[in-house]
Amino acid sequence: MSVFDNREYDNHEQVLFCRDEEPGLFAIIAIHDTTLGPAAGGTRMWTYASAEEALTDALRLSRAMSYKNALADLPLGGGKSVILGDSNRDKNEKILTSFARFVQGLGGQIYVAEDVGISCNDVDVIAKESDYVFGLGKTGACTGDPSPFTARGCFHSMRAAVKHKFGRDSLEGLKVAIQGVGNVGRCLCQDLHEAGVELIVADVNPEAVAYVVESLGAKAVTPDEIYDQDVDIFSPCAMGGILNDDTIPQLKAVIIVGGANNQLLQPRHGEMLHNKGILYAPDYVVNAGGMINASYDILGQYDVDAVWERMKGLYDATFRILEVAKKEDRFPHEVADDLARQKIAAGRKSKK
Ligand code: NAD
Repeated sequence: MSVFDNREYDNHEQVLFCRDEEPGLFAIIAIHDTTLGPAAGGTRMWTYASAEEALTDALRLSRAMSYKNALADLPLGGGKSVILGDSNRDKNEKILTSFARFVQGLGGQIYVAEDVGISCNDVDVIAKESDYVFGLGKTGACTGDPSPFTARGCFHSMRAAVKHKFGRDSLEGLKVAIQGVGNVGRCLCQDLHEAGVELIVADVNPEAVAYVVESLGAKAVTPDEIYDQDVDIFSPCAMGGILNDDTIPQLKAVIIVGGANNQLLQPRHGEMLHNKGILYAPDYVVNAGGMINASYDILGQYDVDAVWERMKGLYDATFRILEVAKKEDRFPHEVADDLARQKIAAGRKSKK
């Protein structure tokens, strides 16, 4: 089957299939759209069942990066790379170096960063052979851990959703169930605690749970119990695909705002939430804070105070999408996709 026939192909500008026999590299670099600027997105290393599945993931994720960057008002396009293999077993310096040379060969059409299976330290290895990296670990002047920014952006989006749904400015006294209290979830708990929110948390890692229970007074429940908590807001901050046929019927929350990527298992689950009267704030709008911060590795002139200030803009971005969706009786995730496409189209027009 050709790339053009793949169900996730959406006029992607370029797809590069990378093969280097000696280190054993198989990778795919997908550049969705560079209208607004060079493509930027993470590099994932994963044990895909087939090359077709890897291609599908690269195409889907690169388009999502175009939309995320456009709606975050970044002068960047969307791209994503996938390295095929088991990051625990197959990842080594030779593979990363080989991949880096392919990225370098694209001459700045795409900038790559960490993602599932690729750490910031791996990005440091890639940076030895390529100038086109962001979200570095230890080397160079870098923007550091994006998670506190992602969490703060999520916090402002939550404020926007509460304003939209309940007409109130404060989160004080609300109950929020947080699934996953890792880097993003833990920072979000901190922000919510300071705002006077009652926290209910679940994580498969008991140490992560213990930290927020002891330091912030959160109530812990088991991972299976987190969905049907009697709360105002459900905040997915762990893995993707968790809004699905099994979990949506369990939800008692009336708002969903969280940092996790790809929360809807399928687009139809956005419809399912809407029909249940649950307001869903589109994930890639909510969790853009980390990307906004990391983008300074590409765009330069890093001013951490200005980045914190920029997180407040995610209130307006989220509020606008929810208001348009209500006014036009549409699903928020569809409105977000449309707005992103319009921004890219406007950029294309202004270039002509
Ligand atoms: P993390 O690995 O630090 O935290 C994830 C947490 O979820 C871990 O503590 C893990 O134990 C927990 N978890 C895993 N499975 C679970 C389950 N079934 N039930 C409950 N908890 C479970 O990752 P992170 O950096 O905090 O990212 C969280 C999510 O946010 C991911 O989907 C990530 O793609 C997305 N995201 C993160 C950033 C960022 O800045 N870190 C930016 C954008 C999106």
